[in-house]
Amino acid sequence: MPSQIEVLASLQLVDQSLRTKSLAIAEGEGRVAALEEAVRGQTAAASAAREQLAALNTRQRDLETRLAAAEAKMKDRRMRITRIRNDKELGLAKREVELLKEETNGLESELVSVMEQVEAGTAKLQGLEGELARLTAERDAEANELRDKLGRLSGEMERERATRSELLQNVDGDLRRKYEMIFSRRGGVAVVEVREGICQGCRMRVPPQLFNEIQRNEQVILCPSCQRMLFWRAEAEEANG
Ligand SMILES: [Zn+2]
Repeated sequence: MPSQIEVLASLQLVDQSLRTKSLAIAEGEGRVAALEEAVRGQTAAASAAREQLAALNTRQRDLETRLAAAEAKMKDRRMRITRIRNDKELGLAKREVELLKEETNGLESELVSVMEQVEAGTAKLQGLEGELARLTAERDAEANELRDKLGRLSGEMERERATRSELLQNVDGDLRRKYEMIFSRRGGVAVVEVREGICQGCRMRVPPQLFNEIQRNEQVILCPSCQRMLFWRAEAEEANG
């Protein structure tokens, strides 16, 4: 019948393996979540840029229509001028053509500006869509990797959990709670070996009287310095000695 500390030492090996796997899974999940977030942001940015570009395209078409209409009207008035004989009417008609000329000039320069914005907007959208495609591919690759990892690890983790339950059947409830608390607070190391009188968790020398108690292996003893459960292995000591 193994002692409580021996069972806890075996339990810790299983728990450390489970912990490493859980951390690897959590890390993968974190990467996927961060990429999901980036994809969402990039999708929103691309969609805003697409809407902006659509509005500019509409404005360009509208300006082109208005410019064509003003040019047609101006052409028509110029034709009419050749037929006007009355001076007053001629003056009015020339004034109208001048105004139309101003209008077309204004529309033309506005159109040039809008076309420049369309060009810039198209380039911007292309950039955003390229980055979105890159992020999406990266997210998919990361998600696949996580799926593979989960597939690989879940069976092992299930077996380890079963082993864990079996081991725990031989551990006193209070001791189990104490072990689990130390394990979670001390970075996954609750049980440490004492070698040549030194705690391998914190490298402090254990008082000789306490060391004798540990060697008796009758009860679980905590390191006075790091509060971990101390474990002594006779065969390790002999191998070192
Ligand atoms: Zn210690």
